[in-house]
Amino acid sequence: MQTYTPPLRDMKFVLTELHDFSRLTTLEAFSEVDADLAETVLEEGGKFTSEVLLPLNASGDREGCRLENGVVTTPKGFREAYRQFCEAGWSALSAPPEFGGQGLPETIGMMLSEMICATNLSFGLYPGLTGGAMVALRKYGSDELKALYLPKMISGEWSGSMCLTEAHCGTDLGLLRTKAVPQEDGTYRVSGAKIFISAGEHDLSENIIHLVLARLADAPAGIKGISLFLVPKYLPREDGTPGERNGVLCTGIEHKMGIKASATCQLAFDDAKGWLVGAPHKGMQAMFAMMNAERLGVGIQGLGIAEVSYQSAVAYAKERLQGRSLAGAKYPALPADPIVVHPDVRRMLMTMRVNAEGCRALGAWVAMTLDVAEHGADERQRRDAEDFVALMTPVVKALFTDLGFESANLAVQTYGGHGYIADHGVEQLVRDSRIAMIYEGTNGIQALDLVGRKLPPHMGRNLRGLFHPIAAFIAENKENPLLGEMVTGLERAFGALQLATGQIAERGMKDPEEAGAAATDYLRLIGLVSLAYLWARTVAVAVPKSFAAGPDQAFYSGKIASARFFYDRVLPETASLYLKIKAGKASMMALADDAF
Ligand SMILES: Cc1cc2nc3c(=O)[nH]c(=O)nc-3n(C[C@H](O)[C@H](O)[C@H](O)COP(=O)(O)OP(=O)(O)OC[C@H]3O[C@@H](n4cnc5c(N)ncnc54)[C@H](O)[C@@H]3O)c2cc1C
Repeated sequence: MQTYTPPLRDMKFVLTELHDFSRLTTLEAFSEVDADLAETVLEEGGKFTSEVLLPLNASGDREGCRLENGVVTTPKGFREAYRQFCEAGWSALSAPPEFGGQGLPETIGMMLSEMICATNLSFGLYPGLTGGAMVALRKYGSDELKALYLPKMISGEWSGSMCLTEAHCGTDLGLLRTKAVPQEDGTYRVSGAKIFISAGEHDLSENIIHLVLARLADAPAGIKGISLFLVPKYLPREDGTPGERNGVLCTGIEHKMGIKASATCQLAFDDAKGWLVGAPHKGMQAMFAMMNAERLGVGIQGLGIAEVSYQSAVAYAKERLQGRSLAGAKYPALPADPIVVHPDVRRMLMTMRVNAEGCRALGAWVAMTLDVAEHGADERQRRDAEDFVALMTPVVKALFTDLGFESANLAVQTYGGHGYIADHGVEQLVRDSRIAMIYEGTNGIQALDLVGRKLPPHMGRNLRGLFHPIAAFIAENKENPLLGEMVTGLERAFGALQLATGQIAERGMKDPEEAGAAATDYLRLIGLVSLAYLWARTVAVAVPKSFAAGPDQAFYSGKIASARFFYDRVLPETASLYLKIKAGKASMMALADDAF
């Protein structure tokens, strides 16, 4: 059984005790929002996800999606759950009020997403893709397109998809062949074949709005010649209701390792009517608005999986009786001790625990900064926030999905053979979470984005939003007795990160392969140092509160225990990451291609 209780207490801690939620509520856009409202919304979201989505997770995995005559049917219960999702207004939560959204901060939207992904990753993809498509449309669509499509997408009546991948082109979108031909009425005719399109066809919404990358006839070769088009499944009538069927057909769905209730579609566009989004040949710029939103969203998938893995493993470890504690029987009345007593099982449980709590703390920091980037009071504040979000987007995507998968694997290990068989549902978590490291740009590509695109601009300006607060925290807390050795550990890891950053900048300038060889280890290094900073801050908040007797005492003591475990058992990895980065590309590149 997958076990899940919405982690509302930790969400509250992260929002209002670790981070300063009032930083958002003082912004004009969120003047009607406060911490109590956030808490109520998350509580309701927790009920919906644990009561409606979780029960459909295993059945959706078993049943999967079906394709018959171009029509995709989602598993039993999904349509009803989607209807409830829309009726309760969850699709509109952080969407802009001018188009019918509720205008709540993205930070709250991301916490809701975490709970959706924890309880039913497959379900989450449908509204997730719609959310990303809306971002691109809002930023780059014409006023007409926005007025026609956004309200329906916000209500969830219409959903979105993202059509990039073709059989011969995945990472390298410059190779794509789908064509668009301009028409006299200002529209375009789009033709081509796309594969791997999540939510490309399904029975949840009455219309599907595809955002499609295609090439105009006069387009420059490669990535600079790609444009973005909006192609609806049904062409809207004058009154805005879905009318004539457009020339887009689902020709196949993929049979895959996990997320079986998410339809991954092959789509054939045959003279389909489309509208240009953004400027001709500038499609990648517009698509990046969607991709960046999706990348953060995929990172949150990793976080959700980490949480449900942890909770499921804890529940099992407290019940499963095997062996006796090495310190002598702890439950002598039972025939054996529950496995939770064993250090090696605790190693796994604590790792999953800090993965989930750490990612939640970091995810909330990035989400709050994203809200400031959108709604900040002045230009400078918005720019600084954008810099930080740009830096952290690949980190959130890759680190969180790596840790989510690691947690799912540890959950299986905690269950032993009972994890490997299907009955308990934890092997599903491994299968479901594996894709998150691949789609939206593989984690290797995220690392290249980090070192190649995010570090260099403006002499490393993007790093300031991370490095400055860490440096200031270390300087201010050197003598802080609450933190003890932690500040020394943080200082050491931060020093390694600074050295590695300088090294990559210097070597990468002379030889880009050096930056490529360091990228994945560097991403993990910067991710772990960011987490270490947040764990140290967590301790600074939690220690004084842990002295006060009351219902929260165990919560704060638990936070301190998590932080200590992270510093003792996870952070030391930064030393080996630094050594790997320092070693450079030589041994990686030594063999000739044909020597493999
Ligand atoms: C279930 C599922 C859902 C998906 N949903 C969507 C969707 O909704 N819309 C959509 O458009 N696509 C979608 N995709 C496609 C997905 O985004 C791609 O699979 C992914 O981007 C990788 O592309 P690829 O599979 O062609 O791998 P390739 O690009 O062939 O990469 C193979 C390997 O080579 C590495 N590699 C490639 N190029 C480089 C390079 N330049 N430098 C270093 N390493 C490199 C990669 O990191 C990877 O490890 C989905 C895929 C799946 C399986």
